[in-house]
Amino acid sequence: MPRARRRPKPCADHGLSLARPAHLVDINGVEALRRLAVEGDKNLGSKLSIGACVRHAAFHKPVVDGPLGRLLAKVVRHIAHYPIRTRGTFCGSIAHADPASEWCLVTAALDAEMVARSAGAHARSRRRSSSAAS
Ligand SMILES: Cc1cc2nc3c(=O)[nH]c(=O)nc-3n(C[C@H](O)[C@H](O)[C@H](O)COP(=O)(O)OP(=O)(O)OC[C@H]3O[C@@H](n4cnc5c(N)ncnc54)[C@H](O)[C@@H]3O)c2cc1C
Repeated sequence: MPRARRRPKPCADHGLSLARPAHLVDINGVEALRRLAVEGDKNLGSKLSIGACVRHAAFHKPVVDGPLGRLLAKVVRHIAHYPIRTRGTFCGSIAHADPASEWCLVTAALDAEMVARSAGAHARSRRRSSSAAS
């Protein structure tokens, strides 16, 4: 059997189809990855937890009270058109890291901390705007 030369990639959708991995792992059937929830305590600091299969369209209605929910609901309408927003995912957009993408802009503007988790580990990262980074 031929050996894969590249590592398998998670894939919730086809997106721009720019990646050409030798193997794809379809994660659409994993219910837990559709989770979109606020975690933590309002006073101690809370986080928006966005599962890998959460589509852009999930943000059409504010997903959290206050200015953040309203901002995300406003921004999402600038991402392509509705059919694209029902397929593309927030996490895919962040992982793809197109600097022209709306979610990359929002996370940089808000100095958002991203936590990427796998079964055994997690990593934190920030995507800063050029003014925040300097
Ligand atoms: C016609 C068209 C117009 C578009 N217009 C816009 C636009 O105006 N604005 C905009 O911001 N975007 C736009 N997009 C991008 C689109 O909305 C998707 O967000 C983007 O293509 C990523 O696709 P995806 O979410 O399906 O991720 P995928 O294609 O599944 O994944 C993208 C990459 O990230 C990796 N990945 C995905 N999920 C994870 C994860 N949870 N953890 C680790 N790695 C992961 C994948 O392995 C792959 O390398 C457009 C796309 C199309 C096709």
